[in-house]
Amino acid sequence: MSDKLIHLKTDILVVGAGGAGMYAAIAAARNGARVLLLDKSLIGRGGATIMAQMTVAVAIGEQAPDHWTDHLADTLTAGRGLCDEELAATLCREGPDRIREMDEWGVNWTREGNHIKQVTAPGHQVPRCVFVDFLNTGPAVARTLRTRIARTDGITRISNLSVTSLVTQNGCVTGAVALDLGEGRPVTIAANAVVLAAGGLTRLYQRNSASVNMGGDSYALALRAGADLIDMEFVQFFPIGHLAPRLVGMDPIMWDPFRYKLGGRLLNGNKEEFIERYGATDSGTYTAPRDVTSYAIVKEVEAGRASPNGGAYLSFEHLDEATLRDAFGPVIDRLADNGIDLTKSPIEVAPIAHYHMGGIRVDETMAATVPGLYAAGEAVGGANGANRLSGNAITEAVVFGERAGRFAASAAKSNWNPAAARAGIDEIRNLKTGGEFPKGRTFGELFGELQNLMWEKVGLLRTDSRLEQALNRIREMQALDLPALKPDDATAFALGKQEWFDLRAALTTAEAITVAALNRRESRGAHQREDMPDTDERQTHNQCVRLDGTGLVLETIPVRRLVHDPIPAGDDK
Ligand SMILES: Cc1cc2nc3c(=O)[nH]c(=O)nc-3n(C[C@H](O)[C@H](O)[C@H](O)COP(=O)(O)OP(=O)(O)OC[C@H]3O[C@@H](n4cnc5c(N)ncnc54)[C@H](O)[C@@H]3O)c2cc1C
Repeated sequence: MSDKLIHLKTDILVVGAGGAGMYAAIAAARNGARVLLLDKSLIGRGGATIMAQMTVAVAIGEQAPDHWTDHLADTLTAGRGLCDEELAATLCREGPDRIREMDEWGVNWTREGNHIKQVTAPGHQVPRCVFVDFLNTGPAVARTLRTRIARTDGITRISNLSVTSLVTQNGCVTGAVALDLGEGRPVTIAANAVVLAAGGLTRLYQRNSASVNMGGDSYALALRAGADLIDMEFVQFFPIGHLAPRLVGMDPIMWDPFRYKLGGRLLNGNKEEFIERYGATDSGTYTAPRDVTSYAIVKEVEAGRASPNGGAYLSFEHLDEATLRDAFGPVIDRLADNGIDLTKSPIEVAPIAHYHMGGIRVDETMAATVPGLYAAGEAVGGANGANRLSGNAITEAVVFGERAGRFAASAAKSNWNPAAARAGIDEIRNLKTGGEFPKGRTFGELFGELQNLMWEKVGLLRTDSRLEQALNRIREMQALDLPALKPDDATAFALGKQEWFDLRAALTTAEAITVAALNRRESRGAHQREDMPDTDERQTHNQCVRLDGTGLVLETIPVRRLVHDPIPAGDDK
């Protein structure tokens, strides 16, 4: 391994090459900027985008009459009063342009006759979700953007470079320090603006739908650069994550499209439908919102009405093989390889951490509260309020990605001062490797403990006492365990060093979620408190966290409402 410092220079640095980062890179380049797009994994293959197999919500009205303001109305309803309405309106208004642009680029949205097919998903009042068959939406979006990037001048791509800190000078972000995972050495990057598109945080939870790269880096990097985060308490749990029987090589949240297309009966351990007991209705199609369904399953389990493995049944036994095959083609064979025959027995499902509504606080140009920093995709907080509608996340990634790249491209030239990067370089160089672990704890053990802690105490059902226990342990891990963790440098690739930075980011982000959850003294959307089960309308505000010299500070701010009529004159609904 080499310790030689590499220095790179660009107009726009995009951190993270999922849907948001790739769109940001394309938009910045077509607005005349030189772009450096980097990822701690492989470009376009690392995060959630390529894993998303299902639907993208967009009011193109090809299946049934629709308008972006109807999409906005559904998004705001799902968000339980906390959506940043300007961001939500931007997502819904610009979604159609992005979806049609990707269609021109060859994404191949599934068609029915001569129109793009759209299906209904939970919380949407009309068939609004486009997809690519069979269960291929995310891979198709990622491939389309990778191809477009390869055909766009001015974008340099680097894989296996993990950003460990942002560099600030006089209160502005001027670049970043990254760990070269091949050589273990620091790399500095000077940029006029940085777009943070490093994805979400669900890896922090024991049961999750995440890849290893969704460990909260976006939020930790932004916080440490002085930026505000918003709504960190709102972690979305996907209600019907796969639980049993064993499923190998398939998406744990794959059951959603089966529900959209075919219906499917959600039953408790006594084989009774139960969603109506919790104030929602599914009317045979399973359109109840995610937060309500997750809550309902957990409550049924608590009441002793769980399926054998501790969740609920999802049954397609009322369908015949021909109907299933017609809807899902080769997927049925992959299920058969796993020993699953949906016509003969139900599968078991349970909630799984899936998406984060909170994130970096931005304005409508995607600028964060620190000059020089922009954010895009799941890294951004606020658009979805307390609960996200299904299909809104990919739309958010591409809409906010395009905007972040476009606005960042006009950022003023920054003055890079190498001295400002010194601390970030030193922390990579000085990380002691190969030593004894004083407490015998490895990264795997510590990260596993954090995941359990977040699941048990900062998960679906929260209380003051559980949140306080979690916060104490997270802070103890930050103060004692992290400094004592000496990365194993025996492996090729700087995996040990990366793990140390992964744990630091995860702990910082976990602390932000827990502090915000403790301070929201009500239940709303994805934030459910057993000790405060009601929604308190006086708490219809957002919460911001930021780091000051002494630690995390929290502030409540009013929800940003739309100031203009969303339907401009002449735009017929
Ligand atoms: C299994 C699954 C299924 C889903 N299905 C759907 C769906 O059907 N419809 C929908 O709308 N949404 C879905 N979602 C959510 C949606 O996919 C994501 O919210 C969205 O793709 C996020 O895009 P992104 O570009 O912000 O982040 P990602 O696609 O996660 O990309 C982030 C990138 O940043 C990189 N990165 C992270 N940290 C660093 C660092 N420190 N330095 C450099 N690079 C870094 C990662 O390697 C990754 O490549 C699903 C999510 C999952 C996990």
